Amino acid sequence: MIRIEVDEKSGFCTGVVRAVKKAQENLEDSETLHSLGDLVHNPEEVNRLEEMGLQSISYDEFEKLRDTTVLIRAHGEPPATFRKAEAQNIKLVDATCPIVRRLQKQIGDTYSALRGKQGSILIFGKSSHPEVRALVGQTEGNAIVVRDPRELSITIKSPVYLYSQTTMNLDEYGQFQDALKDRMISLGMDPEKDLHVYNTVCGQVSSREKYLREFVARYDLIFFVSGRESSNGKALFKICKKVNDKTYFISNPQESDEIELNRIGSIGICGATSTPGWLMSAVKARLQERMNISGS
Ligand code: SF4
Repeated sequence: MIRIEVDEKSGFCTGVVRAVKKAQENLEDSETLHSLGDLVHNPEEVNRLEEMGLQSISYDEFEKLRDTTVLIRAHGEPPATFRKAEAQNIKLVDATCPIVRRLQKQIGDTYSALRGKQGSILIFGKSSHPEVRALVGQTEGNAIVVRDPRELSITIKSPVYLYSQTTMNLDEYGQFQDALKDRMISLGMDPEKDLHVYNTVCGQVSSREKYLREFVARYDLIFFVSGRESSNGKALFKICKKVNDKTYFISNPQESDEIELNRIGSIGICGATSTPGWLMSAVKARLQERMNISGS
């Protein structure tokens, strides 16, 4: 009989699990709750929460809101958002991930210690990412966001403090550090003395790649479940496909119907950090139904 297994390590990180739980708890007490941006990069989960009463709003819509309740998602928000909410009589349900909050504090403390002195705070990350915008907000907009070693022609002053967005790739962070050291040497700085590097990539993301490689190698066929817009989903799918050529990207259980399952002995189901566990279980149930296997 065909073996079908869901990867128990795939799916939401603890920060997102916590944010979803907070949203659900608050929706039990009130009919409507606004979320500043989508709570997760997964349309199926966004729809499920919408049906419960969660409404995603844009930053422009937030500007116009008054006297209501807004959820801050796991990525966090800059201090300006908290000030605005107070001025507009908006109650905030703060679901900032504790790991992100710790990083915000670390960067904010470094910025305060540097006040009136020379130095640069660099953040290795994507400037448009909400987590990064919130991190830059801890420095009154003064931190420099860089993602590519080629962007290092910018002016940097020693000492240099380097942090990473929590969801960046660990190897790329290492390569960036090497390039930064070279750049500092070319500017006459001593990286041994003047460069302070903080490993702030989240372990829940960095360990997943290695684990997924091992997982997908164990099955004849893989269904990788993720929203099509999730950048984490796209990156992890590529890795899985490289290891197991019979890896298929699907966004919902119905899409699995299009894949032929003849001569397949085992199927693995895995997903991105934004894929809810219930969605991967639903894919398993659909496959079992298709093959007339009783559920387990
Ligand atoms: S990836 Fe890590 S730091 Fe980011 S929200 Fe999830 S648990 Fe928190």
